Amino acid sequence: MRNYDMTNHLDRLRYVAREMFVWPGGYELGIFIESFGDILCQECVRKEYKHLYREVKCWGMSIECVAGCDFDPGDIICCECQKDLSAYE
Ligand SMILES: [Zn+2]
Repeated sequence: MRNYDMTNHLDRLRYVAREMFVWPGGYELGIFIESFGDILCQECVRKEYKHLYREVKCWGMSIECVAGCDFDPGDIICCECQKDLSAYE
């Protein structure tokens, strides 16, 4: 695993987009966009990466890394593809 500065929002974005592994137990990684209250799954983060990167870098959009294992089923749904990140694979 590369080194990431997890206090840096761009690094958080990179982390979720690049790290291939699913968290122990088969849970998904994703991001929480604080400004919009939206959750995006890893797949959608990759699809929208350039756009998200620009939002964070140029507009200071705040994001948090999230992992499905920290949430109850139904509490962490991707706003793009409606995937439930807490679903056990
Ligand atoms: Zn998604």
